[in-house]
Amino acid sequence: MLVVKIGGSTGISLPHIADDVATLWTDAPRMVIVHGGSATTNAVATQLGHPPEFVTSVAGYTSRRTDRRTLEIFEMVYCGQINKGLVEMLQSRGVNAVGLSGLDGRIWEGKRKDAIRIVKDGRRMVLRDDYTGKVERVNTSLLTTLLDAGYLPVLTPPAISYEGEAINVDGDRAAAMTAAAMGADTLVILSNVPGLLRAFPDEASLIPHIPAADVARFMEVAEDRMKKKVMGAEEALADGVRRVIFGDGRVEHPIRRALDGHGTVIGG
Ligand code: ADP
Repeated sequence: MLVVKIGGSTGISLPHIADDVATLWTDAPRMVIVHGGSATTNAVATQLGHPPEFVTSVAGYTSRRTDRRTLEIFEMVYCGQINKGLVEMLQSRGVNAVGLSGLDGRIWEGKRKDAIRIVKDGRRMVLRDDYTGKVERVNTSLLTTLLDAGYLPVLTPPAISYEGEAINVDGDRAAAMTAAAMGADTLVILSNVPGLLRAFPDEASLIPHIPAADVARFMEVAEDRMKKKVMGAEEALADGVRRVIFGDGRVEHPIRRALDGHGTVIGG
């Protein structure tokens, strides 16, 4: 069982990824795709006059401020344009893809944060109207039903809160939870860098391998968004996934290359 997370930053080649999925799916149809959409969401939100705002938590993590309007725009892009675009690309390559968000059938369930403690201009503030949270439970029976019937699930945030509200969640950590819950052997995380770089943005400083026991030490190497990937990798390995690979999503055969060990292989 393989879970592939496709990033939402500029530079990632969805056609190359779809080509690879089509080949792999023919031989090993137990696969789940998870995708993001942050760059397109930022552009659309700006065009709609509701530009993105990012907040930094007291612990130092950056996340998208998600008020109700942002959540609506987020759904338009993630669940609409990106999810359906990817499903179309896969269908045109003979893959029977089904696009769903974490809301559908409560695939990704979690707790909505009731208050977010942030630091703005050096001052601490509390946000209460934010629709964000973290995936805690995965509806594996729905995913297994789809896989057993020959469909390829293509999943995207938002997730759903225990109260039934849509919540924005981190895609990397949702993919990690999904891989662990589905008993996946490998989680491939594709983004617009070759892997974890010791001296970002110097691509020659790629870290090729991290033993499972050492992941936590590498949190300091990663800045902002990359931290969530390292955290997701740590969570996936702790929950039984054998290896997590950060691969380059801009090149031809991105998944195959990652599975062959190109990128940053964690665990294994
Ligand atoms: P995605 O949308 O693919 O999930 P993000 O843009 O959220 O990806 O995260 C990947 C980004 O993290 C890279 O494009 C890079 O700008 C940034 N980054 C920060 N630190 C590092 C690092 N040490 N190695 C690689 N990328 C890093």
